[in-house]
Amino acid sequence: MIGDGMGLSQMYAAYTATQDKLVMTRCPNIALVKTFSDSDYITDSAAAGTAIATGHKTTNGMIGMLPDKTPVTSILKYAEDNNLATGLVATSALTHATPASFIASVESRKEVEKIALQFLYTDIDVFIGGGLDNFNNRTDSLNLIDSLLFRNYQVVKTIPEMMEITRGKLAALLYTNHAPKYSEGRGDMLSLSTSKAIDLLSSGQKGFFLMVEGSQIDWGGHDNDLDYVINETIDFDKACEVALDFAERNGETLVIITADHETGGLSIPAGDLTNGKPEGKFSTGDHSAIPVPLYAKGPGSEEFHGFIDNTDIFKTMFKLFGFEKHAGN
Ligand code: MG
Ligand code: ZN
Repeated sequence: MIGDGMGLSQMYAAYTATQDKLVMTRCPNIALVKTFSDSDYITDSAAAGTAIATGHKTTNGMIGMLPDKTPVTSILKYAEDNNLATGLVATSALTHATPASFIASVESRKEVEKIALQFLYTDIDVFIGGGLDNFNNRTDSLNLIDSLLFRNYQVVKTIPEMMEITRGKLAALLYTNHAPKYSEGRGDMLSLSTSKAIDLLSSGQKGFFLMVEGSQIDWGGHDNDLDYVINETIDFDKACEVALDFAERNGETLVIITADHETGGLSIPAGDLTNGKPEGKFSTGDHSAIPVPLYAKGPGSEEFHGFIDNTDIFKTMFKLFGFEKHAGN
């Protein structure tokens, strides 16, 4: 579970607004995560996503590659190679930096059409989010929807259609680009999508890897818009609740909730828990270097503690899954 741009202040602003109803606080194991990239003290979401997904720091803007452009294998691809079911869910285009880091290797995050094409290089079982235009309205005129259908994906474009799918592979491309803001009518897309992805992926016996992103907490930070940050963090927390509820029932599932970096340099100089009103002050319109919290619950969650690096998230997931390294990685 990745809340893009969700630092401790974003989380605590949402905690204050909900008056202590934030579900991610159920997690008993907590770490602090350093987020700097190979090129910069302040990371972007491409380098940060790559660090979490592959265990390698890279240059800001690059996805799934080392700074010298050597492609590296993501935890999702390792899961595929080990016959686990895999999925991605986001409230942005699925070709945006965070989900892209789990599926693609490109020199620039801007290569969104190339990223869409690389969804077809893997056997990912479920992906739900925006970015339809990168699949069927491309400068190269390829129609990747046809390619997905040919590979036995059920392709849907609305949430009700998505909810009808009860088995098999699913590509739910619900928006031409990004999902709308929660405050502008996205509804429960993120928690419904998380629930649907878990239903589909957990039907197999070998287990699964799923990455769910609350993509727009970051955008609230860039806009220095506290309400946007809070609404998106609460919405992300609802998706965390779906994951934690499943994990608690299932007993064999580790849930990791973290962020790729902090956005906005947010502080909370005042507030009131009795009326749920935090005050927010932003110190930048960009990302900051402030380490981000990581919350974990379930088998292996005790491995996440202390002051860790974002690449340690991959390394610990990899160890807990018991995968074996590819040559060159
Ligand atoms: Mg993102
Ligand atoms: Zn950002």
